[in-house]
Amino acid sequence: MLRTINILPENLANKIAAGEVVQRPASAIKELVENSIDAGATTITVIVKEAGKKLLQVVDDGYGMSEEDAAVAFERHSTSKIASFEDLEKIRTLGFRGEALASIAAVSQVELLTRQSAVAVGTRVRIEGGLRIEITEEAAHPGTSVTVKNLFYNTPARQKFLKATNTEFKHIFDVIQRIALSHPRIETRFISDGETVLHLHPSTMEERVRDVFGEQLFKTVFSFEENAGMGTVGGFLGKPDFARKSRAEQYLFLNSRYIINRSLNHAVYQAYENLLEKTSFPFFILFLTLDTAKVDVNVHPSKMEVKFEDESSIYRMVLSAVRRALAAHDLIPTVGMRGEASAGKNVGLRFAASANAPQRRPSFWQELLKVDAKTGEVIPESPTPATQAMLQSDKLPVDGRDKASTHRSLIPDSSYRISEVPVWQIHDKYIIVPIENGLLIVDQHAAHERVIYERAVERFNRSDKKIQQLLFPHTIEMTPGDAALVRQLNPLLETLGFAVKLFGKTTVILDGVPGDIKPGCEGQILQDVLDLYKEDEQGVKVEPRERLAKSYSCKAAIKAGDRLNEPEIRSLLDQLFAAQLPYTCPHGRPVMVKLSLSELDKRFGRTS
Ligand code: ADP
Ligand code: MG
Repeated sequence: MLRTINILPENLANKIAAGEVVQRPASAIKELVENSIDAGATTITVIVKEAGKKLLQVVDDGYGMSEEDAAVAFERHSTSKIASFEDLEKIRTLGFRGEALASIAAVSQVELLTRQSAVAVGTRVRIEGGLRIEITEEAAHPGTSVTVKNLFYNTPARQKFLKATNTEFKHIFDVIQRIALSHPRIETRFISDGETVLHLHPSTMEERVRDVFGEQLFKTVFSFEENAGMGTVGGFLGKPDFARKSRAEQYLFLNSRYIINRSLNHAVYQAYENLLEKTSFPFFILFLTLDTAKVDVNVHPSKMEVKFEDESSIYRMVLSAVRRALAAHDLIPTVGMRGEASAGKNVGLRFAASANAPQRRPSFWQELLKVDAKTGEVIPESPTPATQAMLQSDKLPVDGRDKASTHRSLIPDSSYRISEVPVWQIHDKYIIVPIENGLLIVDQHAAHERVIYERAVERFNRSDKKIQQLLFPHTIEMTPGDAALVRQLNPLLETLGFAVKLFGKTTVILDGVPGDIKPGCEGQILQDVLDLYKEDEQGVKVEPRERLAKSYSCKAAIKAGDRLNEPEIRSLLDQLFAAQLPYTCPHGRPVMVKLSLSELDKRFGRTS
């Protein structure tokens, strides 16, 4: 049976990276709680006094140990979880090194009380500084309790390194929080100096996230899950509107193990790249499930670092899963509703696309705004409370239509088009669009930037050229550096639609430009694009294509201060709503903000 303890042969023991397991109370607690999880516990209680410096105890209702196992559990390299080198390939347990109990016992006074449910009596083991003091039979509940007193009592140097109680407490809290997040079905209690700090009931993942972080934060995240062939990626992503200025709230789990991995964190940032300003970080909880043979968890004693067999495909898998999840979501910031529910689904834009709108992707209109791409009609996703009430009332005409069309008929004028909705430009800067539950305020520059950016990226991807020949070519004198940059970027510039020729070291002839560019200042725009491109260079490493797409879209886009006529406004909105990520500009600033009727009602003190 797997659950019998073996003493690992020396050669295997040596293969397991050696190292210190217990650095502070929190790391002892982590090891003990992981043992409880490995023992199939459904309830785990952590008790500490003075943040574990004086006492820490972990009580579980798991399998327990036989007397024989209890007697050797504290020996170095004693484990029931692996027996051979091959087992290292398929580790499903959190522990496998057989070091934790030995390490803890070496630097403290430990008492173990354990009982297997099939055995009438339990076993008590007392150990001090690694030396067994006694082993006795003892009445006990099924399960295991490990009590650790006076951690580091015999290693004063270590004891001195312990931080203030507050700090140690925070470390413990973090450990428990991570374990609670990855094991929602385990009832988890945390009692500190006699006070219950946490009591988490067995629950679903969603409920656990809400219990751990609170309702307030829960409303700012959405969940997703994707089966990516190699494994699954899922979890909770913070809406960009609520991004943090620090990195703290980011959780990464691999096969239910909390891990630290900069590369995967980076993959998530990358997915948010266009949605966030550079100084903020997204909140996320990410769960990865991968074949255990493709990961090595035996890299570091804390088991928080892992090595992937194929890190770059896992990076891509995370990046695209998170990107897709973000793209499929309503990310429009809502005015005045920070911290409140900004309803994820019922954005309720009640206008439809005009017939001559560009080819639209389904995501924004169909999935988010519930607009039928073909008919341009709004599709009610599910009956609203109001329509439901009407459905149930006697006034409903019964005429044999199916449910969906009945719903539709309850919504008046559901098929009117964007060309029929009033739109306004204010201060030559913002566009106001009424929507069903309020109004949208769109930043015209950011909106156009987004549209042009996506078009540029698409052009790069397809390498097709759409050059608009200039009647009168422009001659631009540049610095030798800029002219060299033009030469270097020429293939990309061409793809964007710039036709340039170089003469000598400093002369650039521009005789074609992309269609997006307003006639009049083509040469200036090319120079501005180059300047911005260089500016961005100092920042993080970004692909030239990406950098160029960004600086180009910023410079080619209409500006604040540009007066737009009505057809221009409508065309801009049409193009914006056909974009993949219409919510933010390529630099992460919001493109639109929603002001809801309920917010207005609140401001005006209306109750209905
Ligand atoms: P590892 O977890 O790496 O196997 P540990 O030193 O943490 O090593 O534990 C040694 C062994 O003691 C485990 O393999 C397990 O068999 C047993 N054990 C430890 N804690 C518990 C527990 N809470 N319930 C049941 N068995 C346990
Ligand atoms: Mg262990």
